[in-house]
Amino acid sequence: MASEATERLLAKREAETVAATDADRMVVIPLGAGSEVGRSCVYMSYKGKTVMFDCGIHPAFSGMSALPYFDEIDPSTIDVLLVTHFHLDHSASLPYFLEKTTFRGRVFMTHATKAIYRLLLSDYVKVSKVSVEDMLYDEQDIIRSMDKIEVIDFHQTLEVNGIRFWCYTAGHVLGAAMFMVDIAGVRVLYTGDYSCEEDRHLRAAETPEFSPDVCIIESTYGVQLHQPRLVREKRFTDVVHSTVAQGGRVLIPAFALGRAQELLLILDEYWAAHPELHNIPIYYASPLAKRCMAVYQTYINAMNDRIRAQFTASNPFDFKHISSLKSIDSFDDVGPAVVMASPSGLQSGLSRQLFDRWCADRRNACVIPGYVVEGTLAKSIINEPKEVTLMNGLVAPLNMQVHYISFSAHADFSQTSTFLKELSPPTVILVHGEANEMERLRSKLVSSQLDAKIFTPKNCQSVEMQFSSQKMAKTIGRIAARLPKNKEPISGVLVKKGFAYQIMAPEDLHVFSQLSTASVVQRITIPYGGAFGVVKHRLMQIYQSVVEAKVEEDAADGATTGPTIVVHGRVTVTKESDEHVSVQWASDPISDMVSDSVVAVVLNISREVPRVTAVEETLETEEQKERMAQKVVYALLVSLFGDVKVGDGGKLVVTVDGSVASVDRSSGDVECENESLRERVKTAVRRIQRAVRPIPLSAN
Ligand code: ZN
Ligand code: ZN
Repeated sequence: MASEATERLLAKREAETVAATDADRMVVIPLGAGSEVGRSCVYMSYKGKTVMFDCGIHPAFSGMSALPYFDEIDPSTIDVLLVTHFHLDHSASLPYFLEKTTFRGRVFMTHATKAIYRLLLSDYVKVSKVSVEDMLYDEQDIIRSMDKIEVIDFHQTLEVNGIRFWCYTAGHVLGAAMFMVDIAGVRVLYTGDYSCEEDRHLRAAETPEFSPDVCIIESTYGVQLHQPRLVREKRFTDVVHSTVAQGGRVLIPAFALGRAQELLLILDEYWAAHPELHNIPIYYASPLAKRCMAVYQTYINAMNDRIRAQFTASNPFDFKHISSLKSIDSFDDVGPAVVMASPSGLQSGLSRQLFDRWCADRRNACVIPGYVVEGTLAKSIINEPKEVTLMNGLVAPLNMQVHYISFSAHADFSQTSTFLKELSPPTVILVHGEANEMERLRSKLVSSQLDAKIFTPKNCQSVEMQFSSQKMAKTIGRIAARLPKNKEPISGVLVKKGFAYQIMAPEDLHVFSQLSTASVVQRITIPYGGAFGVVKHRLMQIYQSVVEAKVEEDAADGATTGPTIVVHGRVTVTKESDEHVSVQWASDPISDMVSDSVVAVVLNISREVPRVTAVEETLETEEQKERMAQKVVYALLVSLFGDVKVGDGGKLVVTVDGSVASVDRSSGDVECENESLRERVKTAVRRIQRAVRPIPLSAN
């Protein structure tokens, strides 16, 4: 029994501790991209504020199974959704999330991302051949989603519902951003996909100037190291050149936007330098090609200095040696050629049609230019199987050469470790990486002395962190004019705005906030027919300071006010007429108490009036004085606690919410089982003594 009770007590304590620290706990949950690549979507909640990063689909799945695990969360609680870049694995769930869930927050992405998102998703809806019931959304949903997406510039700081955020260039693809979020001074950096290497057209990712408390970072390439850029470019152009030189065809399955533009720039430049190749066509076969190029030309300013300098001479995206190809039907497949076609995973579409047609011929080559997602054909042919299954169900030998030359603009191990060492976040959460690769990265980061806690959550696994938020308030205005001495207390009004606290003088409220102060003046008129001198006399017996105020003539109407006395500079008592006395005071806790006692005194005298005579002053005994003093204490306690009775031994019994405190009138001691009530009553008694002349609680 005893141990059970102890256990219960411990459980209760634990629950209390959790409740006390709940607000300081940050929760991060990958709803997608947790130990996988695809459907990036990370939920983060702290201090009652909720942010979601990215909203992608898994390219290897279709329909609902491609979505992140939205069921795990309540979409209506999300304040802000930040989308890092246009790739489908980061943005393609967005129309669904905006149109088919209870999400009512705000969505942000960069200008370039929004422009390309529109084109890309329309294409995705057209190309993905799924049954109607498997369709996540249609063109109309995409158009409606456009109105809800707001844009953010690089380095622009925005604030929504107390959540501050801004973004940095992430390299990777045009418009890609990494987001820094600041909630109550705790910062979280979400990198999205990033690359610290400048290429032909993009800037390298920036390293934020502030160290975040938590860094949620991609780990696609794990512990791998990229070949130097020039080496892999040479490998690429060598493969292409030798294949076409021996009469073969080169297939480059690539996602329509992103790396494709970089590879086209390389090919166009190479062809320009090799006139012997001019009779060999290069095709860029993407239905999106033309429209996307227009976007690329529009956002030339978001690219690096090199490409902007070229742009002043001629548009580098206006390729001299590359033509676009609409479909396989318009393709005159008669000899050596280079074709770049989507999708990158060879699941379906034009790249797959060409693959099926060319895979059996050993003169041909397939160059896989970047990261390919688990579960796609492109991923499986990297291991060069002897046979492949074609789209028509037949099996064909895989004779074409398969080359994997990564141009992926993702960070490799050296970029990841340098980036993290420069930022030195105390907590690192790895996402967007295949489970084994991610584990290898984690142990290598640990062994490379990265001083951080590293988490590798799976989908829907939450990472919880505690941030002891020390509340700090800044003084402002006239309070801040003077430097306080060490440990000197400061008093003012504490104003909370978002997560910031300021202490200011009440007079400064209207300057630094939209608040203002008001004082309440209270006035009571009491029927009283006795001599005003008696009131004054009684009050003087109780209060140290009772001053007669000068009778002033009212200049306006010539009327005079009656005799007036002021108690402790707080409460004014005026003889209004032969029948009435008024009591007036400005509301504050002490004046309220004093005024209550004054009212009690006046009422008591009026009850005694028949017995009061002109000679009362001389007749008044010590006993009478004491009785009056006790009445004042009683009245003051009633005004504070309500239920006050006289108990055994003349003790005053105060009852609040069932707890009882008894005040010893002789000593002023307070007895009470309830610790907090005891303290409150003690403080009140002390205050009463301070507010008025020491009131004798007993006859001596
Ligand atoms: Zn990406
Ligand atoms: Zn990605």
